[in-house]
Amino acid sequence: MLGQMMNKSLTISSLIEHAQRYHGTGEIYSVNTGGGVEETTWGQVGRNSRALASALTNLGLEPQARCGTIAWNNRRHLEIYFGASGGGFVCHTINPRLFPEQLVYILNHAEDKVLFIDKTFVPLIAAIRDKLEHLDHIVLMEGTDAEAAKQIPGLKFYDDLIASGDPEFDWPELDENTASSLCYTSGTTGNPKGVLYSHRSTVLHSFGINLADSIAISAKEVVLPVVPMFHVNAWGAPYACAMVGARMVMPGPGLDGPSLVGLIDTYKITLALGVPTIWLGLLGEADKIGSSLSSLKRTVVGGSACPPSMMTAFREKYGVETIHAWGMTEMSPVGSINQPLAKHLDLPEADQHKLRENQGRPVYGVELEIMDDEGNPVPHDGKTQGDLVTKGFWILDSYFRKTREETLTKDGWFDTGDVATMDEDGYVEIRDRSKDIIKSGGEWISSVELENIAISHPKLSDAAVIGARHEKWDERPILIAVKAEGQEPTEEEILAVFDGKIAKWQIPDRVVFTDVLPRNATGKVLKRNLRDSFGEVLMMG
Ligand code: ADP
Repeated sequence: MLGQMMNKSLTISSLIEHAQRYHGTGEIYSVNTGGGVEETTWGQVGRNSRALASALTNLGLEPQARCGTIAWNNRRHLEIYFGASGGGFVCHTINPRLFPEQLVYILNHAEDKVLFIDKTFVPLIAAIRDKLEHLDHIVLMEGTDAEAAKQIPGLKFYDDLIASGDPEFDWPELDENTASSLCYTSGTTGNPKGVLYSHRSTVLHSFGINLADSIAISAKEVVLPVVPMFHVNAWGAPYACAMVGARMVMPGPGLDGPSLVGLIDTYKITLALGVPTIWLGLLGEADKIGSSLSSLKRTVVGGSACPPSMMTAFREKYGVETIHAWGMTEMSPVGSINQPLAKHLDLPEADQHKLRENQGRPVYGVELEIMDDEGNPVPHDGKTQGDLVTKGFWILDSYFRKTREETLTKDGWFDTGDVATMDEDGYVEIRDRSKDIIKSGGEWISSVELENIAISHPKLSDAAVIGARHEKWDERPILIAVKAEGQEPTEEEILAVFDGKIAKWQIPDRVVFTDVLPRNATGKVLKRNLRDSFGEVLMMG
């Protein structure tokens, strides 16, 4: 016997339809690529998304045609999220920081038919245009621009496209399992791999992150997604905000400390989402100009481990709660979120703060398990490490154009490539990526743990730990450190920061100072490059 309830598809158009209808006056502020801030509403974003969907249909695109975007976080990008997916096409966000060869690979592999670009990226695309095999239309996300048109023959303009479309366009009825969006992993090894989300997975992920013990975005909030829209759909924030009609501030190209502090103070932002490096810049600037970030209540930090010293700074100087989250492109991205349980509320404050430091517990909809080398679950004792694997409503089943067998373990788990522990309440601590963990004489040392301690040193502005080859111990940790502006710390001074915080044998053998850490397109430190540069320093006498 089947249930007798309406079987309405979980679609991305239902999200924008709700925002347009019930939060039509909710404000969206958008920093334009050329400068200046534009104000619009969910109502207008809804109408423009419908117009865009109708214009794309009129271009003769086939259902599920891929529509690429290379753009900052702005209002037009938001409309493309809803217009392209809602219209039955696939919104394919592309990271502009990739090398041109990787961009060509991704655009050809995805067979993008349309590419929406921000003005910043006109020269980038003009240079590779001839190599893009499937592309029929390039659309500049602006009004008419003769200068850009000269660089890219046949260039179309977003505002013309919207003007040609129907703002009352009826969203097509789609099967909820239809592909909605596509995002490639940054591919630190091998070619980037595509993750093809569905309408259903996207809507369920939005419910998941809006649960009370998750991120819980509400209509009362003003949300600043600093995490780029080309980085796992800005962690799903645009969809989750539409679901509840939260106001949004789209920060555009300027993600530096001064720009962000300016936006937070001007638009009274309550919730901001981004990676740790972004917040380092923000905290530095707020300190410098004496802003109290008075409106800001919460930050969601993920993408890399959030150093505990950053949480302390947010809490003690600004009264801001840091919500530490973990996930990956393959997981839409949210896997776990750190929120306290009832039993923690009576603990001394210092203990409560300590508990907030790890990557948190699985959100309903995500199953997490830690496996040993034989594929058996390890005890949930907060100590035993193993490979973190996952299943769930918004976890990928197979990479785009790859099989399930190539993607999952034989038991149907997705192996995250992270090494972690889990405690009896399901709190997960990411110890390292499996390829970065340091194996010293049969013992494992977490580079993440050492980095968290190193970065708390006031004379350092950035730090990474790698395993360097060692004659006796196979590998020993070394610290690659960037000095803070105007500081000249010695190696001994830096190493002293580890005293009493970890076992002696885990303390790095050496500090190597460098000017800047190499990072990939999503801002993660390229440990492989560091190992190439510094991996032999302990072997040279
Ligand atoms: P890529 O895998 O292409 O670098 P992702 O954004 O998908 O890009 O990265 C996912 C990985 O980032 C995770 O597997 C994990 O190693 C790391 N990561 C994400 N969030 C955290 C976090 N809060 N703490 C530690 N590591 C994290």
